[in-house]
Amino acid sequence: MFDSHIHTKFSTDSKMDIKQVLDVSEKNDIGIVITEHLDLNFMRPGEFIFNIDKYFKEYSKYRNSKLLLGIEMGMRPDCIEENRKISKEYPFDFVLGSVHVVKMNNIYYDIYNKELYYNGSKTDIFIYYFNYIFRCIKEHNYIDSLAHIDYIARYAKFHDKEIYYEEYREYIDPTLKLLADSGKAIEINTRRFTQKKVLENMIKIFKRFKELGGKFVTIGSDAHINKNIGNYYKEAKEIADQCNLNIVYFKNRKVQYLK
Ligand SMILES: [Zn+2]
Ligand SMILES: [Zn+2]
Repeated sequence: MFDSHIHTKFSTDSKMDIKQVLDVSEKNDIGIVITEHLDLNFMRPGEFIFNIDKYFKEYSKYRNSKLLLGIEMGMRPDCIEENRKISKEYPFDFVLGSVHVVKMNNIYYDIYNKELYYNGSKTDIFIYYFNYIFRCIKEHNYIDSLAHIDYIARYAKFHDKEIYYEEYREYIDPTLKLLADSGKAIEINTRRFTQKKVLENMIKIFKRFKELGGKFVTIGSDAHINKNIGNYYKEAKEIADQCNLNIVYFKNRKVQYLK
């Protein structure tokens, strides 16, 4: 069991101490990939960036086969090369690509904030979001796995925030195909797995990923506090098994199969 999406104190929105992560890892026999937030050019300067030298300096002593050091990189059109450089320059085990911010009508919007949703209907915004993810992955072709394709469903300010695959098929499929064709993984992010209907909706996306030739999934709790590490792993594993997808993690930027 490997949780490939964990934040600690190097992420702006987490205070977790690595010692707490190590405790859970040992107690529950779970492998961990730390993925600190790096969203370059974030709208609030100084947030969601971290000192990567310090990260490696401080955490390298804990690094072993069950504690790996990665990054969650915010993909956006104005820092493609800078992100690429960082991903190459540092010895990350894993580069998880995310979209937390979208550029719409020449303005960058935090998906978390309500302002984005004033730009159109749910259908308009969701279509825009899926097309945007596709463009970001195409440009950031150096990521290992795509994080939380359903991120917008956490925060959208619509009555029903859920993603119904059938409604967005033609906008989701290109992303799944691109990931599959380039041998990349997609993340099963368990943050929203508190509701059964979410599992039922999300499995359709992962099934389609398999149909389009996808092979690998990473599983991530996206924990920012210790009690959430490994959350809903069982449910994520069931999805992967039902879709016949391999659960993997990354070490030295290479696919590792779970034994
Ligand atoms: Zn994220
Ligand atoms: Zn995260």
